[in-house]
Amino acid sequence: MIAVRRSETTLFTSREATHDNDTVALTHRAGLVRQFGSGLYGFTPTGERVRRRLIDAVDAELRAIGGQRISLPQLNYSGIWERSGRWESFEGEMFTFENRDGKRLCLAPSHEEGVVHLVDGAVRSYEDLPALYYQVGRKHRDDHARNGLLRLKEFTMKDAYSLHADADSLDETYERVRAAYVRLFEALDLAFVVAAAENSVMGGSASEEFVAPVETGTLDLRHCTAEDCRFGVTDESPGWASVGGICPDCGGNLVAGEGIEIGHAFKLGTRYADAMDLTVDGPDGDEWRVHMGSYGIGIERLLHTILAQQSDDAGCRWPDGIAPFGASIVPLAYEGAIRETADRLYRELGAGETLLFDDPGQTIGERFAESDLLGIPRKVVLGNQFRETGAVELECRDGTTRYVDPDEVAAVVSGTRSGD
Ligand SMILES: [Zn+2]
Repeated sequence: MIAVRRSETTLFTSREATHDNDTVALTHRAGLVRQFGSGLYGFTPTGERVRRRLIDAVDAELRAIGGQRISLPQLNYSGIWERSGRWESFEGEMFTFENRDGKRLCLAPSHEEGVVHLVDGAVRSYEDLPALYYQVGRKHRDDHARNGLLRLKEFTMKDAYSLHADADSLDETYERVRAAYVRLFEALDLAFVVAAAENSVMGGSASEEFVAPVETGTLDLRHCTAEDCRFGVTDESPGWASVGGICPDCGGNLVAGEGIEIGHAFKLGTRYADAMDLTVDGPDGDEWRVHMGSYGIGIERLLHTILAQQSDDAGCRWPDGIAPFGASIVPLAYEGAIRETADRLYRELGAGETLLFDDPGQTIGERFAESDLLGIPRKVVLGNQFRETGAVELECRDGTTRYVDPDEVAAVVSGTRSGD
């Protein structure tokens, strides 16, 4: 892992960035992204650190439930999409074009067809199932771009696909993925509910959306306020029009607001096997249609939602393990004995990813503000207290402080989580 000196890197932070959505403004002020046009964003080194850590967190949950990672091409010939019948139904939202050989292609907005193609002819027997495959890659949708990272034309998605010999097996894996999503979103300190949803262009029998309540979202949401109840309905839910002010699950109160879809799980049944003729041999040699599930999490949207729910006036706040740097070293002035100790701590903390504020052009106030703007969970401050007593001030992003001996800083920082 690489530690970073403030004087040797570009942080892309900005005082000027404004946007009518506070979260979008913050992604620019904190220097996480640069816009490349409507619905297109590039990630800076700082933003990419956060994006990577979110991907790693999602990846770990999928591996923990037996997911096997795959990688499918983003560029697809029209053939598999014509077989599934979605070349037409995705029209408008799918980027399609013709290459110089006159072949029709698309940038895949989803990969149900791709997974069917991957396993077709290789997975032959009901005994080869169930299987859970996933990938983390780029998706393209010609959506109407809105609110920064919330709705993009190119975005990163963790998409998982499960394959089954029968409906019971699909139900079982669906519950396992659903539980993994709940664990993941809880670990990311997100408030969220689970809403029944329409399957629309995905097809199949049932689906659920994981929806995070926010001030400005993409969905109208009514959700239960009772602790431990995750009931919600959105304007995309089948029961939207009929639900009143009382939670049908627990009798608690429903509140109205907006939400962001952070995850979606679909029971697809045999919709793709029927269209694309995907079968396995059953125990008596008869042909069984393969049942499928599909499960998605949008990475950039997850990043936006974390900021929308958790940031404060000073800037970003991140769940444990997601911040771009684990700690910052903030010297009152980068010179003399302070500089020596700052450099030593920088070397010792480097493995945990550290930002050293060594730029002579910054005041200590600016260093504090920038560290907080980036959402770095711990500041190691070498200030007046250090000059007087040799103790280092360890300040958490929530404002709690304590003094420790410089020799103990590495152990204390690696042993504490933010907020402890
Ligand atoms: Zn409830």
